[in-house]
Amino acid sequence: MIGGAVGLSTPFYRHVHFPRPTLPDTVRAMSTSLPLTVFVVLAGPSVGSFIALCADRIPMGEDVIAKPSYCGTCKTRLRARDLMPILSFALTKGRCNTCHAAIPPHLLYIEIIACGLGLFAVLAGGEPLHVLLTALMLWLLLALCVIDLVAFRLPDAFTVALAATVFLRAPDPLQAMWGAAIGAGSFALLRYAYFLIRKREGLGLGDVKLMVGLGAAVGPAGVPTLVLLAALLALFGAWMTRDRHDMAIRQRPLPFGAALCVSAAVLWACGVA
Ligand SMILES: [Zn+2]
Repeated sequence: MIGGAVGLSTPFYRHVHFPRPTLPDTVRAMSTSLPLTVFVVLAGPSVGSFIALCADRIPMGEDVIAKPSYCGTCKTRLRARDLMPILSFALTKGRCNTCHAAIPPHLLYIEIIACGLGLFAVLAGGEPLHVLLTALMLWLLLALCVIDLVAFRLPDAFTVALAATVFLRAPDPLQAMWGAAIGAGSFALLRYAYFLIRKREGLGLGDVKLMVGLGAAVGPAGVPTLVLLAALLALFGAWMTRDRHDMAIRQRPLPFGAALCVSAAVLWACGVA
């Protein structure tokens, strides 16, 4: 949130402040809530492992809870020693214990990023419940970003969980509601207008649902900045991954939800969410 007193017509940039604690405050907070710090930081890699699993299985319509983990090459069920996030990858040098096939390195990267996000949530400070909700919000942003990048999907379970988490940690629920309404409402209008003009879907319904949580996180005045930053990121990503033989950028599907999630995390780091 930008601040409880920010009006809808107030310029966003005039009210941005940076409520992050100073380093000594942060160290003191970490030492007084050591169990929470240890829990959030240690949970991060496991959360990252689950996010990577979701990104692998959701596009194929596989179960992400009940089905046991297995090697993607030889299909051998993984044992407990293969399932320790980060550590297993280091011990096996990134290879399957049975068939020695290389394990995709992005699995390790996601676990490390999730661990880092947990640490950032602790460093940002606040009451224990607020720290937990912040970590959960950042992990959900990572999950939505990864799944959108891999599968061009934003599962309802994650967008709903994100919105619920954001509202639970919102310092001003009314501003959060305005942000959600303006964010999701503007995307819904944009989606409808694009369909009327081009006679095809240009903006996914998942993006509209995602904006409920993101709009609530940045508040009504932060929505334009969020969308502008995401648009620049998405265009930059499309330009970086361009291929002369590929279709034109304007014809390619863009994982705009992923760009929105990254932008929301950046705005959070700047004290805007
Ligand atoms: Zn294998």
